[in-house]
Amino acid sequence: MPNVSNSTNEFATNIATNIVTNIVTNIVNKIIRPDVQALHAYPVQDAKGFIKLDAMENPFLLPPELQDALAQRIAKTALNRYPVPSYAALKTSLSTHFGVPEGFELSLGNGSDELISMISIACAKPGAKVLAPMPGFVMYELAAKLAHMEFVGVPLNPDFTLDRAAMLAAIVEHRPAMIYLAYPNNPTGGLYDVADMEAILHAVGDTGIVIVDEAYQPFAQVSMMARLPEFSNMVVMRTVSKLGLAGVRLGYMSCAPALLQEFEKVRPPYNINVLTEAAVLCLLEHAEVFEQQAAQLRANRRELAIQLSALSGVEVFPSSTNFLLIRVNHPDKKDDFGDQVFIKLREQKILVKNVGRMHYLLKNCLRVNVSTLEENAALLKALQCGLGDALK
Ligand SMILES: *Cc1c(COP(=O)(O)O)cnc(C)c1O
Repeated sequence: MPNVSNSTNEFATNIATNIVTNIVTNIVNKIIRPDVQALHAYPVQDAKGFIKLDAMENPFLLPPELQDALAQRIAKTALNRYPVPSYAALKTSLSTHFGVPEGFELSLGNGSDELISMISIACAKPGAKVLAPMPGFVMYELAAKLAHMEFVGVPLNPDFTLDRAAMLAAIVEHRPAMIYLAYPNNPTGGLYDVADMEAILHAVGDTGIVIVDEAYQPFAQVSMMARLPEFSNMVVMRTVSKLGLAGVRLGYMSCAPALLQEFEKVRPPYNINVLTEAAVLCLLEHAEVFEQQAAQLRANRRELAIQLSALSGVEVFPSSTNFLLIRVNHPDKKDDFGDQVFIKLREQKILVKNVGRMHYLLKNCLRVNVSTLEENAALLKALQCGLGDALK
């Protein structure tokens, strides 16, 4: 009677599976922090078969000569050894190429995401608060909460400039240990007024630190890096991700040496792997390749902004990044028009980021990458169709 025994086995297996599931659920409920259980994992859209304009990636690959040089360098890397934790050569190369002032050291992270976590952990005294303008980069709030810090968001002005008065009032009220200023800001794309940033740095004084996040520096061409000697409470943070090396995972930051020393204590000692180290050392010897790509994307951004503004119902916000924030306006001011246009773009295999529900100031806004001329043209065409369809 093989059938009976099979179904009996299946029954027994199901019971066993259920018991295991229940045990695991119990373990989760007993040991995992309730606030962690309530979180959602960082959402990444499935991009297979799409033109990917949602994650601020550089669309260009390395030229073949550089691919070969990189392959040789990687092949010679001693994979059997731990990295040398000072990362001295890599730091010197980054400092030289990216204008870190004399007398200032670097700390490295597995992407600037890790630097954000490190600073949060180091500053997370009981009751310590983190402040940032909103809408802003989502990792600031997440890292603060994971470190048990209270996060205070201060709305930007409706034109996405800093609300200086509100920021200064919030600094007095909350005395935050950490303030983030993304320069330029994600997802809005614009640069804050330097006078507003200086006012914030002065107001904070020695009661906190101001982290100036310059992830988009290659596209902004302005920086607070050279002003590190002026502000002992400023941390300048950068990444090679938006420059075209998002897969490599390398972020770096600088600030007053005594402060940096403390952040270094919470850094996992071998956080930058030898392949990343070798790759970035090799690629920075050819930094002009990335400078040319950034220049190309800045030119493409100017052109795409003009073309998008020419579409009726599309508002384009000023950008100093490799993306453009746009708002799509329905003639009858429909609240879900952005969602509809997003869906129409997706149907045409164009993936952008729908940020319309992130914050009330972003209603009906989409964030679109600046890409190659071909991909920009595809976006423009799809948006034209999508706007027309969504209006029907
Ligand atoms: C993309 C981005 C980062 C994260 O960069 P990684 O180095 O890839 O972790 C940091 N800050 C802002 C504002 C960003 O947009």
